Amino acid sequence: MGQIHGSAAIATRQARLRARLEEAELPFFLVANPVNIFYLTGFRGSAGAALFGIAGEAILWVDPRYTLQAREEARGVEIIGVRQRPLDAAGEWAAKQRCREAGFEESYLTFGGERDLKRRCSGVSFKPTGGLVEELRSVKDAGEIECIRRAARVTAEAFYDVRPLLKPGTRESDLAAEIEYRMRRRGAEAAAFETIVASGPRTAWPHARASSKLLKKSELVILDVGGIVRGYAADMTRTVYLGKPGRRLSRLYSVVQDAQAQGVAAAREGVRAGNVDRAARRALGRRGLARYFTHSTGHGVGLEIHERPRVGRGESQRLEAGCVITVEPGVYIEGLGGIRIEDTILVGSDGPEVLTTASKDDWIIS
Ligand code: ZN
Ligand code: ZN
Repeated sequence: MGQIHGSAAIATRQARLRARLEEAELPFFLVANPVNIFYLTGFRGSAGAALFGIAGEAILWVDPRYTLQAREEARGVEIIGVRQRPLDAAGEWAAKQRCREAGFEESYLTFGGERDLKRRCSGVSFKPTGGLVEELRSVKDAGEIECIRRAARVTAEAFYDVRPLLKPGTRESDLAAEIEYRMRRRGAEAAAFETIVASGPRTAWPHARASSKLLKKSELVILDVGGIVRGYAADMTRTVYLGKPGRRLSRLYSVVQDAQAQGVAAAREGVRAGNVDRAARRALGRRGLARYFTHSTGHGVGLEIHERPRVGRGESQRLEAGCVITVEPGVYIEGLGGIRIEDTILVGSDGPEVLTTASKDDWIIS
């Protein structure tokens, strides 16, 4: 698979960030979010601080717990081990350069953390510019896409692995545990989120957790699953029925499946993310079901399970080739149940590609 976070990929990401800093006329940018530090350096520790400057500065501060790991994993940065809080060290370094202004990620600092930083570096004016790196992350490079592709594959395969358990008498929580185990056996590092298994009336809750309830005959079952490969997540939902569904459920299922296909088809380069939401919502609306669709159509997926671009009503960000998003319309009807179908999609220059390829037609298990 090559070096996902190899020197070349890291250098390109840092160059893209530097171009943004130039546009924003910010000489320095302090990065405190560990996910963003991983993206920009390859260092996967849970604490640290990095600084990037328009003149090419690239420094990573870590505490003694992480010095060895940083030396092993980080690329394209000078590593400095410190005993104080890494972000304070980064701020002090910027102050010593007589830097007047530096961007920082305001949402990753507590109120106290921000106050301490400003107090220690009194000459520097800190500008809240969070979201810069998240924006870069919304368009994936080839190595990142390869990781997500693999995560999607193990997710779909694990779903097939547990199909024999999709029968009356299986406990929801056992099914969730088994899926997570199968994903790991197939190469995932972990589950990207707590696996959702909901059956019967609980399918009407869009985010039910797996419970001790047993699956029963003549019930819907929603499975929302995703694995992580080399830091990158996939996200997939399938709904199945145990037994022979009546006409109303069969019709509902085909409407949701059609809405999902419409959303996927709309996920093209240059299109606003909000249009994907609109395509799925309209398909439900034509059958009078829009009011049962109570969440957004999807979200970006990558180093985090929910990231940019948002795929909801009126979102104006345009999709680019390399964006990875989910399309996951659902209907939730009290007393009847819920149906949701979700895929992770790559927006490509030749159109959308579904990465989570488990069958959606094969939903009746009798
Ligand atoms: Zn999901
Ligand atoms: Zn999702």
